[in-house]
Amino acid sequence: MKNNQQADWKEIEDKAKAAFIGVALGDALGATTEFMTPREIKVQFGVHNQIIGKGWLYLKPGQVTDDTEMSVWMGRAIRNSKGWHLSAIADAFAGWMKSRPVDIGSTCARGIRNYIVHHSLEVRPSRWDAGNGALMRMVPVALYTLGDEECLGKYAVEQAHLTHNNPLSDAACIFWGRLVHRAVMGATLDQLRILADDFVAGHPEFGYHPYPGNSSAYVVDTVQTVFHFLFSTTTFEECLINTVNQGGDADTTGALAGMLAGALYGVRGLPKRWVKRLDPKVYAEVPGLAEYLVNNSPIAKTSKRINC
Ligand code: MN
Ligand code: MN
Repeated sequence: MKNNQQADWKEIEDKAKAAFIGVALGDALGATTEFMTPREIKVQFGVHNQIIGKGWLYLKPGQVTDDTEMSVWMGRAIRNSKGWHLSAIADAFAGWMKSRPVDIGSTCARGIRNYIVHHSLEVRPSRWDAGNGALMRMVPVALYTLGDEECLGKYAVEQAHLTHNNPLSDAACIFWGRLVHRAVMGATLDQLRILADDFVAGHPEFGYHPYPGNSSAYVVDTVQTVFHFLFSTTTFEECLINTVNQGGDADTTGALAGMLAGALYGVRGLPKRWVKRLDPKVYAEVPGLAEYLVNNSPIAKTSKRINC
């Protein structure tokens, strides 16, 4: 490899790591203000900008929740089964649920139970399953399919349908993966905004301008919230602080903002005081997992394409 190619690859790995660490940081930061209103947050914290734990789950500082955990368990399943095996991912989710996680969404719990009891890898389509539970765990899918949008589309929907079978969730998962791909490959904030506006043109329900201000777990509200704060800020820190101070499903909007802002701004953009506070076990595992996923993605091995 020529030196400049090596430098480019280092940059791709850096952004992949920052995307995955970004999920954990946003989760840990946002869990404190989950289910609060912006007004309640203002009264209690002024501006919430430190990783201090607590929140309704009464977390330790730096502790993460289901958003990060499902992403990590999926990433491990891809690595341990040496490829994309949906049943290995379903087994990982079942193992995670049995590990008595600190939090689990009701739609995710129902889908995982559906797998445990009926060995089914797909829940029934439902117009009510438009929560953000499939979207929040997209980082391993995006990193592992880097360089192949078709694979991304297929895997995004497969993993989503383990728990959520809904067209709005599907559209969000696929598009999110595409944004992560572009950001990891070096796209700028303006380039991502153009892509997001194209996406909104085709899916007007996701329109985020003017921002409606709802940061619930409904996938449309979640996407609008993260787009609004990603595209109205210019650093990882500012993006995450503004996102989690909107409250609502703040750990998940935080995780999703962290995924995109991490991929965009890279490891150097991650505030050191937050990284230091992150659960050491998570911080010990996540960068290596991200590195593994991109190093086994289609772009890393163009001669040996993953089979999808
Ligand atoms: Mn959570
Ligand atoms: Mn949440």
